Amino acid sequence: MDEMRLGRTGLMVSRLGFGGIPIQRDTEEEAIAVVKRCLDLGITYIDTANGYTTSEERIGKAVSGRRSKVVIATKTGARTREDAEKHLALSLKRLQTEYIDIYQFHGVNNAKHLEAILEPNGLLAFAEEAKNAGKVRHIGITSHQMDIAKKAIATDKFETIMFPFNFVTDEAATELLPLARQHDVGFIAMKPLAGGMLDNANLCFKYLFQFPDVLPIPGIEKPQEIEEIVEILETSPGMTEAESAEVARMKQELGHRFCHRCDYCQPCTMNIPISTVMTSASFAKRMPEERFFTDMVARAMAAAANCADCGECEQRCPYHLPIRQMLDEQVEWFDAKRKEYLAKKGSL
Ligand code: SF4
Ligand code: SF4
Repeated sequence: MDEMRLGRTGLMVSRLGFGGIPIQRDTEEEAIAVVKRCLDLGITYIDTANGYTTSEERIGKAVSGRRSKVVIATKTGARTREDAEKHLALSLKRLQTEYIDIYQFHGVNNAKHLEAILEPNGLLAFAEEAKNAGKVRHIGITSHQMDIAKKAIATDKFETIMFPFNFVTDEAATELLPLARQHDVGFIAMKPLAGGMLDNANLCFKYLFQFPDVLPIPGIEKPQEIEEIVEILETSPGMTEAESAEVARMKQELGHRFCHRCDYCQPCTMNIPISTVMTSASFAKRMPEERFFTDMVARAMAAAANCADCGECEQRCPYHLPIRQMLDEQVEWFDAKRKEYLAKKGSL
């Protein structure tokens, strides 16, 4: 597989990385098998996080014996130095390794969190000490928030940035990537398939592979998923005119009313699972009808109908979505669909 240089880490990594969130849904055996399949296909960049329950441990088992050939990136969401110390020790143990290649501060989405990282003797100081001790080789940061990501890059304290990037959420192309290049910060694209909301892997990856210094890390649950993406990478001549037009059409259609399922809008005053409501169309595609209209989505819709209109979620959404309006629309859409479904069922 082709390689790319990951900013000033100087690391040469495969053109495609592995995102370690979905292997939490696998059995341990399946998870280990899927990571091994990725390694066999030539993937050398593996991303995980302290917060992804079983992910680190499963990856540790899968890369055992091949550690030196793999770049392992993990993350800590710690807000205090003490917690960061505990997280790093746990990550090293679970990953069965002496060092983390890229240690990232996870989900830094507000100024306060970034300040806590940067303050003297704070979290960054801890990571730098760990680097001097050989436990960490490079320090990175992840964010969903453009202003914070820009600030972080400008400090020149982080060697990589991870940010959402796909053809719908494409602000990174013009607003962040040029700055990352200027500071020689490695760019890692999270949510290349928009957290599962875009199901056309061909378009999603052809779009991202146009950026030779961007490393996409799709979350992978099954071997077939990574096999499909590797095939796109290795056989595709690039985007055709028709595909570019399709990307533009889809982007226009989805616009800025696209929920990224990041859940930064939580906690909701009325306990509404906002992202479930917002992305119910994707569940409609995957679930049997009976379940869709009676189970989790139906409960989420019932909760959404009780929105207290407090607006707190909208202040927290990094994408500035008009959540209340979108919830109303989703509830209306669901009710209409359910009526159709019940009518169909009654006529059977
Ligand atoms: S506006 Fe509605 S959805 Fe948003 S936090 Fe308040 S109750 Fe929850
Ligand atoms: S509404 Fe906004 S904050 Fe909430 S999950 Fe969607 S994109 Fe994230």
